Amino acid sequence: MAKFKYLKPNTLQEALDLLKGNESDKKVISGGTDIMVQLRNYKIDPDIIIEISEIESIKGIDKKDGFITIGAAATLTEITESDIVKRYCPMLAKAAASVGATQIRNRGTIGGNVCNASPAADTVPALVALGAVATVASVEQERKVPLEELYVGVGRTAIGSNELITYISIPQPAENSAGSFFKLGKRKAQAISIVNGAVYIGVNAAERKFTDVHVVMGSVAPTVLRIREAEESLIGKSINRQNIENAAEIVRSKINPISDVRATAEYRKDVSGNLFIQAMSDSLEQLGVDVSIEGI
Ligand SMILES: Cc1cc2nc3c(=O)[nH]c(=O)nc-3n(C[C@H](O)[C@H](O)[C@H](O)COP(=O)(O)OP(=O)(O)OC[C@H]3O[C@@H](n4cnc5c(N)ncnc54)[C@H](O)[C@@H]3O)c2cc1C
Repeated sequence: MAKFKYLKPNTLQEALDLLKGNESDKKVISGGTDIMVQLRNYKIDPDIIIEISEIESIKGIDKKDGFITIGAAATLTEITESDIVKRYCPMLAKAAASVGATQIRNRGTIGGNVCNASPAADTVPALVALGAVATVASVEQERKVPLEELYVGVGRTAIGSNELITYISIPQPAENSAGSFFKLGKRKAQAISIVNGAVYIGVNAAERKFTDVHVVMGSVAPTVLRIREAEESLIGKSINRQNIENAAEIVRSKINPISDVRATAEYRKDVSGNLFIQAMSDSLEQLGVDVSIEGI
């Protein structure tokens, strides 16, 4: 590992002051579970490392004014165990619980998972499906970026080198809505996703119609993908097996996976549709919509 200067600011303002200016190559470290691997493998070679994991104002999980807010330095374990997250966004708790193993979740943060910009990052599809927005701060300004618009490529985000994500807000899900996160890996723990994704649905149970649908896939393209054509094929339509299977076909046709050591592109395409159908079925079940009538 190359030498670097290590700084540990106590406050957000101190961290932002340290990030100001371009005179040296600076890198933020939170839990370090991604960045330490990159440093060890000489993939990055910063002059200065700025640790943010213990800045109180960017930790914690709260609910107010119709939003669930999660500090960027909240760990994946804290998210998995949070009563607020489990109650209002259970699919995010499930996504966080699926990351790595206990040691990784105890150190790894949501800010790190989001900013590392891996196409296989597990919390990202759930956050996009839930309509999450990142608050991004620098000494000059604070701005809001929908997670869906944060990614520009593999390992690349729209966050500037002098900026930090401070927290992530999720609008409180509507009544009669539910969601489901799914992940296919080679084994249960420590497995990077072959395919992951999330669906969020709103329904009019009395009329058996979809009122809202978000379909998000990960590990099947350079960045997380929201599949609007599949969403549009369902919104306002009847809840039945045929409509869901048609949407699954759209999911398969709209993703552009690669073949790699974990799976072939063909396998990823096929399994994505099946996982989508399962997630829709799980979500409908949570809402008490009797999917068995329709034979799902
Ligand atoms: C053995 C192992 C297994 C893993 N398994 C999984 C898995 O199953 N699923 C999965 O999704 N990931 C997995 N990971 C990856 C990693 O653990 C997660 O992405 C984790 O959430 C990263 O968080 P961190 O706090 O450790 O990030 P760090 O390593 O501290 O940072 C990651 C990147 O984000 C930037 N960053 C961090 N916080 C901020 C912020 N607030 N604002 C701006 N930039 C920021 C850093 O500069 C760096 O570029 C695994 C890693 C290992 C080593």
